[in-house]
Amino acid sequence: MIPVKAKRGFYIAASCPACGAELELESDFLTTSCSSCNSVLRILTPATPPAYVVGAKVFDKDVRFHIDHHLKGNAEPLTDSLDRVRKVYFPYWKIDAILLRLRHRKKTRINYDEETNTETSTDQRKVETMLSPYDITIAAGGLPEIIPCSLGERTEYVPMKPYSEEHLQSGFESLNIEIPWQDAITSANRAVGQLNHVSADEFGVNISLLLRPVLSLINFPYFLAEVNMRGKQRSYVLDGLTGRIVYDCNDSISDQLHIADHQQSAELGRLGVELHRCSNCGEQLPDTRSYVYVCRNCQQLTVLEDCPQLNCRILSVQGSANADDQYFPFWIFRLPAEQTNVFRIRFGGSENVGAICVPAFRIKNFEAMYRLTRRISGAVSELSMRESRELKENYLPVAVGITEAGALAHVALMREVVGKSQELPRALADLLFEEVSLFFAPFHPESYFLVDSCLGAVTFEKSLAGVQTKPVPTSTPSTLRM
Ligand SMILES: [Zn+2]
Ligand SMILES: [Zn+2]
Repeated sequence: MIPVKAKRGFYIAASCPACGAELELESDFLTTSCSSCNSVLRILTPATPPAYVVGAKVFDKDVRFHIDHHLKGNAEPLTDSLDRVRKVYFPYWKIDAILLRLRHRKKTRINYDEETNTETSTDQRKVETMLSPYDITIAAGGLPEIIPCSLGERTEYVPMKPYSEEHLQSGFESLNIEIPWQDAITSANRAVGQLNHVSADEFGVNISLLLRPVLSLINFPYFLAEVNMRGKQRSYVLDGLTGRIVYDCNDSISDQLHIADHQQSAELGRLGVELHRCSNCGEQLPDTRSYVYVCRNCQQLTVLEDCPQLNCRILSVQGSANADDQYFPFWIFRLPAEQTNVFRIRFGGSENVGAICVPAFRIKNFEAMYRLTRRISGAVSELSMRESRELKENYLPVAVGITEAGALAHVALMREVVGKSQELPRALADLLFEEVSLFFAPFHPESYFLVDSCLGAVTFEKSLAGVQTKPVPTSTPSTLRM
């Protein structure tokens, strides 16, 4: 039996636009289907960070119990009376990003020559690129000395609802957002910048950067209680989900609160959930977890991501006659010509003039993705492409979006430049691409690999892409088991 992993962390609780049933949306979703009415739904991410609210699970009547429980645990006298309770939503920025660490490493290799009985050492220098998921919560309000500055690792599974009047519990006040989201990203980047220390085996420029930061605001519930203990006043702050005491002092703290009008969070973005249908003719689109769809009724293209540089058409590489081809999607990011010259970028080959092709399907490891990016970028100018008006059955879903692929293009670019010179390529992380487009290229299986069917030059391991190639037909089973 596979043990069922307990769910933890945050999820978004939204309702189905067709039947009203509650949906559990976790990160990394595009489309989902409602378990009550089977409608296929898509999630629209707003341009400004969306605001959420987490409902308190502690009841007013239990506040004193939680404080006494805490006091008992510390072998202190219990409360004589509960004088005042205030309930607040404290705002946090939640940042989900990819952490890029670019490291120069020096490795010394010792060679032993048996004939001359001598040892020689050679230094090898290489650049390591590491990508890992990174998430953090940062206090957005002004009282981090009283309220924890981060939500930390939540061990429970916490629903967040879109911030709106109907989801605010009675008696709760919202605190001011005092740190703008841009500042939250800056401080998160400063925190990861401290990972840049250079150890003995490293040299040159090290870079730690947050790529593709996705922000949201979480209003988290706290109780502020003032109690009387043997004639003395004491204040406690309780986590509204668990009742845990997070702060206590002898002063009154409720006067220090900066209460906001409810508008502040409401002004932020709102996540949308809508029926996954063609905006032109209303035809239902398939639930393939892709960023790109073509309506089979009217051929309208739907891309689930906003990008002003996107060239809205699908290109398909021509010239393969293989029956077992599968078409793999790639995003092409075109660099402005002047940047190509400044950084002397010949990405993936001398013919390439500043187009970076990033796989739009999932590849498990970054090194393999980087190698494929280089190879396909070097080969792209030799491929002949034509516009395609449909996504056929042997076309793979576009599982990597433009923002994420763009971040990976930046990483590949930085790595290319850092490998050639000691220049600091950090500025490249913010470089804007001139044009983004999508193409599909045919590959066919050859033993453990997939080989491109037009040039026979670009290969990658099947297992890395987690690709299900069509099963080879085996002999017909003699009995059918039901
Ligand atoms: Zn439904
Ligand atoms: Zn349509």
